[in-house]
Amino acid sequence: MSPELIGAVYILSAILFVYGLKLLSSPATAVRGNQLSSLGMLVAVVVTLGSREIIDFRWIAVAAVLGTIVGAVAAQRVAMTGMPEMVALFNGSGGIASLLVGWAALDMGGATDAELPQTTFTIVTILISILIGGVTFSGSIIAWGKLSETMPSRAISLPGQQFISLLLLVAMIGCGAMMVAQPETWNSTLIYVVIVLSLILGVMAVIPIGGADMPVVISLLNSYSGLAACAAGLAINNTILIVAGSLVGAAGIILTNIMCKAMNRSLSHVLFSGFTAAKTATKVEGEVKPIVPDDAYLILEAASSVVMVPGYGMAVAQAQHVVRELGELLEENGAEVSYAIHPVAGRMPGHMNVLLAEANVPYDQLVEMDDINRRIENVDVAIVIGANDVVNPAAREDENSPIYGMPIINVDQARTVFVLKRSMASGFSGVENPLFFKQNTRMLFGDAKQSLSSVIAAFKS
Ligand code: NDP
Repeated sequence: MSPELIGAVYILSAILFVYGLKLLSSPATAVRGNQLSSLGMLVAVVVTLGSREIIDFRWIAVAAVLGTIVGAVAAQRVAMTGMPEMVALFNGSGGIASLLVGWAALDMGGATDAELPQTTFTIVTILISILIGGVTFSGSIIAWGKLSETMPSRAISLPGQQFISLLLLVAMIGCGAMMVAQPETWNSTLIYVVIVLSLILGVMAVIPIGGADMPVVISLLNSYSGLAACAAGLAINNTILIVAGSLVGAAGIILTNIMCKAMNRSLSHVLFSGFTAAKTATKVEGEVKPIVPDDAYLILEAASSVVMVPGYGMAVAQAQHVVRELGELLEENGAEVSYAIHPVAGRMPGHMNVLLAEANVPYDQLVEMDDINRRIENVDVAIVIGANDVVNPAAREDENSPIYGMPIINVDQARTVFVLKRSMASGFSGVENPLFFKQNTRMLFGDAKQSLSSVIAAFKS
């Protein structure tokens, strides 16, 4: 294949990536965006394989078939609630792939090989792909453990953690400098040391982050996986890998910025200060007022404006379809209905948008946090469906709370609030929620899907 043809096909792939990303920015076009980007990647992979003068495709075919089977089965089997963990594993896979590409590039054209001398630039990019790839891989495995609650989701701080991380980084830079300065003295031990150190650094970087700060980590790891791929692309001089890596890296950074803003936290604060436990327990006043679905129906029947506020519990209960059904019944009853989405609700960026889109909730009824907060005082009923941290007024009222300063949907300022959850348990951040004790709050205990189905049944009868 001529270099001109390869270049032209790579440009086509890059256009598909960029256009696909643009389409991903709206729920209405997201599916098409995903398909176009995937097509761009398929074209890029096929052309790359065709252009490398590969003599024997057997192992490549085995890997492609195995990868396709694993991917297809995982995508079919994963429950909607397991998607965030799957995203963490995807990020980790990107990281380990870049590490392996960097490592292979080193072996294929190591400086000891007289026929394929490495330039300083290539060695540095190889080291960067191994370093960031390793950090992304082990960091993502820890993120997966925290999201799946296979390990404690809270921040875990070890004594002298930041100092140890700094030492690891310095040691890695030292190894890298030795490799760059004296390539002829390379031996495989040095590269093993860099790989092991990068894996330990990934664990040390993510372990102290937990609770409500996790969305920032997920988006940052996503960005790292892109940067590692970009460095691997530079190491093997593959244009389309550089383009794809840069796009993922840049998109991840933008998402990280959005998540930081949503938490009202700076990136350095998230990375270096940890998510501290509350200095004192949040003071709660008032008493819990449980209601049954029929009570909820009577109030909703008279409401002229209703806001649904979904959270992680809606994903657990798989309540998105009944949420839409109730929304339609309320509209038929003359109420104005909207769905307020907090940027970090659920367990992955855009989690609530995906679920509501799956249930065909009209996009024009989705409102962002700032918009709903401006008019929340005029809302008759706010229905909180399995949300907790993102509606916790302690973030506004309690300076000692670890989530203090995080913007929330101010449902407590609506005329009446229904909270649908199974118990008085706290949310992901482990912080007590004074909303449940507010004078205008009514608790509708039980699985959100069952509770909403009972309210719908009351409407229909
Ligand atoms: P939370 O985790 O704060 O609360 C979810 C609530 O859902 C729980 O209190 C639980 O209460 C309830 N629940 C669980 N199952 C059901 C069910 N079947 N029916 C009814 N209720 C149920 O969720 P939020 O969405 O409010 O907040 C998200 C949190 O996750 C934030 O702290 C955020 O920082 C963090 N996070 C977000 C990520 C992201 O990218 N969006 C990634 C990682 C973490 P009960 O057990 O009593 O039913």
